[in-house]
Amino acid sequence: MKYLKSASAIALTSMFLLGCNAVTEPHSALPEASPEHCRFGDVVLQNNFQQGRIDGCKQREDGTIVVMTAPEDQPINPSPWYAFKVSSATPQTVAFEILALEEGRARYNPKASTDRENWREIEHSKGDHTIYFELTVGPEPKWVAGQELFDNDDYVAWLNTLASAYNLERFSLGNSAQNRQLPALVSRSEGTEWLILVGRQHPPELTGAMAMLDFVEAMLEHGDEFLARYNVLIAPNLNPDGVALGNWRHSTGGGDLNRDWFARTQPETAAVHEYLKELRATGHTLVYGVDFHSTWRNVYYTMPADYVSNEPTFSQDWLQLLAEKIPYDVVEAPGATPGRGIFKQYMADEHGIHSVTYEVGDETDRAEITATARAAAQALMEYMLARD
Ligand SMILES: [Zn+2]
Repeated sequence: MKYLKSASAIALTSMFLLGCNAVTEPHSALPEASPEHCRFGDVVLQNNFQQGRIDGCKQREDGTIVVMTAPEDQPINPSPWYAFKVSSATPQTVAFEILALEEGRARYNPKASTDRENWREIEHSKGDHTIYFELTVGPEPKWVAGQELFDNDDYVAWLNTLASAYNLERFSLGNSAQNRQLPALVSRSEGTEWLILVGRQHPPELTGAMAMLDFVEAMLEHGDEFLARYNVLIAPNLNPDGVALGNWRHSTGGGDLNRDWFARTQPETAAVHEYLKELRATGHTLVYGVDFHSTWRNVYYTMPADYVSNEPTFSQDWLQLLAEKIPYDVVEAPGATPGRGIFKQYMADEHGIHSVTYEVGDETDRAEITATARAAAQALMEYMLARD
C-alpha cells in the first residue's frame, strides 16, 4: 500500500509553510546589483535576467564571495530564492556563501548550468541562513540558482507550442500588477464541465511548475476521450511579476496570492475569479481544480471529504487510483482553513467543489516528478471519465 494518509504531518508542514510571522523592519532593498556591484577581481556576478536574484554581495577576507538575498517584503514565508550568472576571465575555483537576510532560512539546494537547460546540483553545506559551496568558474558564464529556471518567456513558448500542436485557445486571463499577461490555454469540449489547472503562484516553486508541465502534456497527449467531454483551463503562471523579479513568494502587489482568494485584492486572483464566475454565469459547471506548488516533500493537500458535500471522496478516490499506478508513496493531507484565502479553500467555499494543492518536494528526483505527474493526469482522466 503506497497510499499514505498522514494527517499528523500537517502541523509540521503548516509551520514550515507559514514561517515566522515576526515583523521586523522592512528591508530596504539594495539597488539591483549590476556587474559593478558584484565584481571581485576577475569574478563577475550578474542578476540581469528573469528570476535573477542578488540583493547585495561582498567578499570576505578569505576570498569567499557572499551573495545576499532579501525578501521582497515582510512578513513572508522564509524561503530565500537566489539566482545569478557568474564568470571569470581567468578560470578559478570560487568559494560562495549564499546569505539569506531578514527572516530567511536556507532552503533551496544550489544548482548550476552552463546552458540554462541542463542542471546539476552543487555539493554544498547549509547553516540556518547560509549555504556554502565551491564552484569552478571561467570565461563562459554559469547560471547558479536555487532551482532550475523556467521563466515567463518559457511559459509563453510552451503554451504557444501546445496551442498550435493541439489547436487550443491561447489567451490572457488579464494582467498582473505590473501589467504582465497571465497566460492561459483552454481546451474546449462539447460539454459544459470544467477542470481548472493553475500554477506558479509562488515564483521559486519550480518543482511544482515541472509537475504541471508534465501533467498538462500527458493530458493532451492521451486525453482524446477526456477532452471531448471536459473543458480544461490551463493557467500555469499566475505570478509573472514575481517570476520576472526573482521574488521569494509574493506578487508585486505586496502579498501572497495564495492567501488572497477571498479578498482578491490582487489583479492576478481577481482575474481568475472573474473567469470562473463568468463560466458559471453562462451555464458551465466547475468539477475539480489542481493548484501546483512546491514544499519540502511530496504531499497532496486536499479538502476533507465531509467539507464539500458535492462528490465528497473525489480527491481520495483519484489519489487512490494514482497510488496504484506509481512505485512512489502518495501522501494525502486533508485540511480546511475557513476564511484563509487559499485556492482550494476558495474552490470549496466559493464554487462548492473539491480541489487539491499538488505539492512537490523541492529536491524530489526529477524523473519521479515526471512519472508521478503523468500518472496523476492519467488517473484523474480515468476517474473523471467514470463519473456519472
Ligand atoms: Zn506554494
